[in-house]
Amino acid sequence: MGIKILKDKCTGCKLCIKACPFGAITIKDKLAVIDLDKCTLCSACVDACKLAAIKLDKPTDVSHKLSADELKQYRDIWVFAEQKDSLVQSVVFELLGKGRELADSLGVRLCAVYLGEKVDQQVKELVFRGADLVYVVESAKLAHYLCESYSAVLAELILEYKPEIVLCGATTLGRSLIPRVAAAINTGLTADCTGLEIDREKHLLLQTRPAFGGNIMATIICPQHRPQMATVRHKVMPEAAIDQERQGKVIKKYFAEDKLLSRTKLVNFIREQEPTVNIAEANIIVSGGRGLQGPDNFKILQDLALVLGGAVGASRAAVDSEWIPYSHQVGQTGKTVCPKLYIACGISGQIQHLAGMQSAEIIVAINKDPSAPIFNVATYGIVGDLFEIIPALTAQFKQLI
Ligand SMILES: Cc1cc2nc3c(=O)[nH]c(=O)nc-3n(C[C@H](O)[C@H](O)[C@H](O)COP(=O)(O)OP(=O)(O)OC[C@H]3O[C@@H](n4cnc5c(N)ncnc54)[C@H](O)[C@@H]3O)c2cc1C
Repeated sequence: MGIKILKDKCTGCKLCIKACPFGAITIKDKLAVIDLDKCTLCSACVDACKLAAIKLDKPTDVSHKLSADELKQYRDIWVFAEQKDSLVQSVVFELLGKGRELADSLGVRLCAVYLGEKVDQQVKELVFRGADLVYVVESAKLAHYLCESYSAVLAELILEYKPEIVLCGATTLGRSLIPRVAAAINTGLTADCTGLEIDREKHLLLQTRPAFGGNIMATIICPQHRPQMATVRHKVMPEAAIDQERQGKVIKKYFAEDKLLSRTKLVNFIREQEPTVNIAEANIIVSGGRGLQGPDNFKILQDLALVLGGAVGASRAAVDSEWIPYSHQVGQTGKTVCPKLYIACGISGQIQHLAGMQSAEIIVAINKDPSAPIFNVATYGIVGDLFEIIPALTAQFKQLI
């Protein structure tokens, strides 16, 4: 991929300067000059140039389908091992659990890809959780996620080793990284999957995710491009068990410094200050909806969550009303959670909310409307006024715990 000015055609007419949305072009000695640090290869200048003086090499033939022989060159299942502060994130263990099942079904290897520093302990953990092979790129420049360097490295590894499936968590990082990689290597991507299966005969990954506002579950396939890439929601699949006897191979790859450059840099990472735990990791979640009637009333949920050692969640109605920050939202456009106990307070139970919490082990619903749909998924239902029930529960639990 690249862009260049054809000197024999350019007259320095400046049309390209007007067209460039990124201010990447200047004129020097009556010739256009492109600043590659600013250019995104969007091709606006190519379209604007009346003299065909700008040449853009970009894989535009996205319809190119791989032949049967080309498809056969792709093998193995890869899991991108997202790390934070050199600790592999728990979504990776969920993907390794599912990945192991899929790899065994296809008779191929399960591989993990780890970019970062302080690799040794993390690599062991990936093997203990089911990886047969770990590709490692160790560099201080990869210590923290930066989309340009991470996507350049992952795309190059994929082009070299040709995995047939690449999985990554549908986390903030995964949602930024994987689309860039898929576009760079000209393959498809199914984002936000909640289920993965294998069609063994056709070597196809059956990627299931909610569609049309959560009203249907769509199963998506990628028959003629490789690898088949999917991001998968956190907490919808069980974590792989740890087996400390497992042995695996490690392949360390070296990338030149210029491959690891990035136009963005991490300035700081500031943790959200929360009195209770993060909902994505919590075993107990006390969640509130429009029935809470206002932001101050979330205090009664917080009191119950603190007594139970849990987190506070919310419906989108409560988040949209700005009663509680978005990071607490559970559901299709919020977080998917899978706690042991989910207490839904003043939440009606619309399908988009259920999409994010119905795999909780025990669901307790508190609602004054006995016909509220939340009772259809609840293990235990309490019909009544949450303003009476929640403080009473908190008081009882305080005595017990
Ligand atoms: C594309 C799309 C994506 C969406 N994504 C999400 C999402 O991620 N998460 C999400 O939650 N929603 C999402 N929604 C919105 C969803 O459809 C609902 O509008 C929302 O979940 C309703 O929130 P609620 O249950 O808090 O409010 P309501 O539906 O208004 O329910 C409030 C409930 O509180 C009960 N109540 C009232 N007062 C009391 C009381 N004193 N005691 C006990 N019960 C009481 C009522 O009986 C009622 O059942 C999405 C919608 C769309 C279209």
